[in-house]
Amino acid sequence: MADVLLVNAPAASVGSDAHASLNPPLGLAYIGSALREQGFAVEAIDFNISGLSEQRLRATLSRTEPAVVGISAHTETYPRGLDIAAIVTEFDPETTVVMGGAHPSVTYESTATEPAVDYVVVGEGDRTMVELVESTIEGQRPTDILGVAFETGDGVKFTGRRPFIEDPDTLPPPARDLFPLHLYRSPGNLLFSRGGCPFNCHFCAVNSIWDEGGRRFHSPDRVVEEIRELVEGYGIDHLNFADDVFTLHRPKTEQLLDRLSSLELSQPWSFTVATRVDLVDQDLLERLSEAGATGVQFGVEAGSQEMLETIGKGITTEDIRESVEQAVAANLDVLASFMFPHPSDTERTIRAQIEFMKELHELGADLSLAYTTPYPGTGYRELAKNGEITVEADGWDDYDAKHLMISTRSLSIEELRPLRDELLRETGLAQQPAAPQ
Ligand code: SF4
Repeated sequence: MADVLLVNAPAASVGSDAHASLNPPLGLAYIGSALREQGFAVEAIDFNISGLSEQRLRATLSRTEPAVVGISAHTETYPRGLDIAAIVTEFDPETTVVMGGAHPSVTYESTATEPAVDYVVVGEGDRTMVELVESTIEGQRPTDILGVAFETGDGVKFTGRRPFIEDPDTLPPPARDLFPLHLYRSPGNLLFSRGGCPFNCHFCAVNSIWDEGGRRFHSPDRVVEEIRELVEGYGIDHLNFADDVFTLHRPKTEQLLDRLSSLELSQPWSFTVATRVDLVDQDLLERLSEAGATGVQFGVEAGSQEMLETIGKGITTEDIRESVEQAVAANLDVLASFMFPHPSDTERTIRAQIEFMKELHELGADLSLAYTTPYPGTGYRELAKNGEITVEADGWDDYDAKHLMISTRSLSIEELRPLRDELLRETGLAQQPAAPQ
């Protein structure tokens, strides 16, 4: 028996896609621990590991008889999330179905109208979900709980944004034991911070999801507690900070790195981070390395000053070259991540990107490429709505960032294909087994 069953919705391609089960779903694990702290019995399934199995879902519903099923989805997994909601409702119409996560948070007005969805948790869900489960189990309709959207029969009601959790240390550590960590390719993910971002890159939805909510940081003690659990408890020797911008707050980053540098664990461990090139320097990169970091991912995204300015990235090609060189000098593996294409790209800027990618590779960076995807909540979505770019998609399933799906303002998808092939060939990404097709 369980009060709550948490379900991570899978991508359609799970089974053929080795990336699908990369990390445990930290957001659901945080919600699981917040619910447990209030005494609720929680179970969880991550269908990203094996793909959606209706048989398994029905068997779990039958065994656990949950009062509430909480489904987490992002854009690509949203259709499977709705499938899960429909199965739950069909299995037992009395079960309360809640959806949350990045996509439902941004699209709550439409998600709340889905027939199998009772409530949408909008934004930071830890406290909202606890209150929602409490009121459901007490037989009340959670109409006054902040951060909830639902269909009233007379339109969708949104109860309003919930104030952000000021101190994330007040939340218990994520309940990783809800998920089979040994089945993930990269099981050791953790967060230093949560919330919005002071930058506003036009392709990014982070500030729509978090409603511009400021960054809040875990203390070094709390981060160390989670590192101990992962390394000494679970025996995971390589961890990955899942923060978009690990070095966002310099003093807090330095405090944490100082702490990690003197941390003694019973077995060797290391970690990787992602950040912006303009938020590091030689000293900080050395300190990262001394603290145990083996790699840093820089979101570079575009390959010329002109395009970096157009996409609102707020960094320069000089920043990028310098930080890559400094990170290599600090003995860090560097991954420079790019996107393709951007709405203002032309043949000329794409060729400039190819040359810049090759240059960074020469400087010692590995390269990765994500296909630009106009997620809800991004500036690029607005361009698609205005007809400035076209989007080739049969549904949300196609929002996987693994294939070419947008035109630019001046190049059709057909015209972009040979340029994509040239980019993959010239940069060596075509040879890598995991290269996007
Ligand atoms: S891409 Fe990174 S730096 Fe830009 S807004 Fe998103 S999280 Fe912030």
